[in-house]
Amino acid sequence: MSQLISPGREFLDSVHYYFDQAAQHSKLDAGIISQIKTCNSVYKVNFPVEIDGHVTVFEGIRAQHSHHKLPTKGGIRYSMHVDEDEVVALATLMTFKCAVVDVPFGGAKGGVKVNPRTSSPELLEKVTRRFASELIKKNLIGPAMDVPAPDYGTGSREMAWIADTYHTFKYGETNALGCVTGKPVGQGGIRGRTEATGLGVFYGIREALNDSEVIKPLGMTAGVAGKRIIIQGLGNVGYHSGHFLQLDGAIITGIAEREGAIFNPDGLDIEDVFKYRSENGTLLGYKGCVFLENSVEVLEHECDVLLPAALENQIHKDNAPRIKAKIIAEGANGPITQEAERILLERGIIVIPDLYLNAGGVTVSYFEWLKNLSNVRFGRMGKRAEEASLKRLVSTIEQTTGKTLSNEEKQLIVHGADEKALV
Ligand code: GLU
Repeated sequence: MSQLISPGREFLDSVHYYFDQAAQHSKLDAGIISQIKTCNSVYKVNFPVEIDGHVTVFEGIRAQHSHHKLPTKGGIRYSMHVDEDEVVALATLMTFKCAVVDVPFGGAKGGVKVNPRTSSPELLEKVTRRFASELIKKNLIGPAMDVPAPDYGTGSREMAWIADTYHTFKYGETNALGCVTGKPVGQGGIRGRTEATGLGVFYGIREALNDSEVIKPLGMTAGVAGKRIIIQGLGNVGYHSGHFLQLDGAIITGIAEREGAIFNPDGLDIEDVFKYRSENGTLLGYKGCVFLENSVEVLEHECDVLLPAALENQIHKDNAPRIKAKIIAEGANGPITQEAERILLERGIIVIPDLYLNAGGVTVSYFEWLKNLSNVRFGRMGKRAEEASLKRLVSTIEQTTGKTLSNEEKQLIVHGADEKALV
């Protein structure tokens, strides 16, 4: 990766490069194009949090890329890599992701520079509540304004803290539950949200593997069964994508995480690997496979589908010439830099883009938000409303892919996916 520019800058440059490429196909006025490209607002705040008698100052950022549709929408990530350019790049991607799946939100994204793995739950709760308070007091979040969601390093627990903080400030406000999505089901969440992104990734890959225009030039047979998959990242997206791919007969040959990667050409059981890592905090020591200390090395192994499901800029100009996958499925946001994409496309590798592939999360967030706005109670009515929402997910998938789902697939989404997938 380039030493001269920050990873965040490189990511934003890539996003702008892709935008400019797409804009060449538009007849819109150049001024309008530049309005669509520009991030509408960025809020940066430094706030103190005290824990065990020590005060630490944290930096939080919320970028609202496009106010053309309100509320704006997008996750909040916790990572030491968070910087303004990264958050703006991610917010930009959210605008176009929402447009691809026809979800009527503008794009947004947030981040706090904090390490979620080495920080205690007490610290994370204080950081989350304080960051939420900073956004609330500036009127920057709210059901009609900007609605955060989980992202890298955050989950339903953090969303519950945000919702609770919002309630404290805005006690009695109508639709207050719709101030954030990805909440626990018992606190205004919706069943199916947790695995939604992974399920969408699975459907996107499956569509590609059944599309003769994609597989014929690559000399591949149709279908997921028997395809060899390498996954980078065993978080919410990586795990659930792998879970559904494995259920459909794919062979997961490699899994990469921060501490290293494991590889077995005969296949790894993703459920067992996930359980092992949850219990041990590392992939190191997992039996029956090769352990690679340099985790990005596994991206260069032979496979049918490479699924980066962690962070941006993972495939860059230096490793792109060595990638052997036939298809790269962008589970993460922006895992391929612009230079890398040029190299990959020249080499005939198919890239399934993030905007389309990982849009399942925000799609189900939209249903959660609708449910909160219509104030549907839990129980029988609530269940029906959730089923109705999930039926809309079926039509979103059908519209976006241009294909009709079978009855069996519809049943899986509407009645079965959550129970089968939740861990
Ligand atoms: N963080 C997710 C994404 O990148 C979900 C956003 C949302 O649900 O608002 O798409």
